[in-house]
Amino acid sequence: MLTIIKPSHHILTPCQEILDMPSMLEQAGRTCYKSEDCITDKSAEKFVRMICRRNHVSVLEHCSISVRIICSRACSHQLVRHRILSISMESQRYCNYGTKGFQFIVPPVLGLIPGHYAYDEVGDWHLYPAEGEPVPTNARQSVWLGTLALDMCSYYYDEDLKPEDARYLLPNAMKTELVVTMNLRMWRHVFQERALNPAAQWEIRSVFRGIFDDFRELLPCVFDDLKEVIT
Ligand SMILES: Cc1cc2nc3c(=O)[nH]c(=O)nc-3n(C[C@H](O)[C@H](O)[C@H](O)COP(=O)(O)OP(=O)(O)OC[C@H]3O[C@@H](n4cnc5c(N)ncnc54)[C@H](O)[C@@H]3O)c2cc1C
Repeated sequence: MLTIIKPSHHILTPCQEILDMPSMLEQAGRTCYKSEDCITDKSAEKFVRMICRRNHVSVLEHCSISVRIICSRACSHQLVRHRILSISMESQRYCNYGTKGFQFIVPPVLGLIPGHYAYDEVGDWHLYPAEGEPVPTNARQSVWLGTLALDMCSYYYDEDLKPEDARYLLPNAMKTELVVTMNLRMWRHVFQERALNPAAQWEIRSVFRGIFDDFRELLPCVFDDLKEVIT
């Protein structure tokens, strides 16, 4: 049995803390102009939009947001190329997938919907939904599932092998989990490269597009002005 899942994210920083960020940014930013006397109950959003417009974005470094991301190793390889961020990542040295179970993320073009897959007595792969009959897979889907399963078998075949050594066989489709913390300036930079860039790879683009949409709703004054990159 192997499980296909979708990439996803979950914002860990408490919502109220994020909603309070414009006021924190205003206090920091107004220090530059010594205009703290202009602070009112409603001045923060306008002030933050002004510093973004003027590209005075170092002010945005005073606030950070943490997000849990679930994606494939193919996607995490791209994410960890960014340098000004903090990351805690699921370790294939310590996690034993022979006991924890295998979850994979595969390209949507294959049409493999999320769920549990297993092969029957004649070796044909099926999706086993929580309710109802097993759903057969097509030839290309079967090849992918069979290849992923081969890697799984090899992984726990030899019980003497430590996870840190067995992991050399694991594919890029393996699910991984990261907690990522970045300041708001860096989030803007990564959204520009990964969420709003049509050249970005489909998985990292979909993960960061989802985070971007959430952030824009919570903090419009910081993220509203970012535009799709024209290539
Ligand atoms: C569409 C796309 C395709 C890609 N393809 C490839 C590929 O084929 N191969 C590959 O290796 N990578 C590839 N990358 C990764 C890319 O080269 C960068 O490593 C990655 O996007 C990190 O972004 P960044 O360079 O802006 O730096 P970040 O680490 O995100 O840093 C943010 C900013 O800080 C500044 N900064 C950080 N470190 C330094 C430094 N040492 N010196 C000066 N300024 C610094 C820069 O202004 C930088 O933009 C790709 C990225 C994208 C978006």
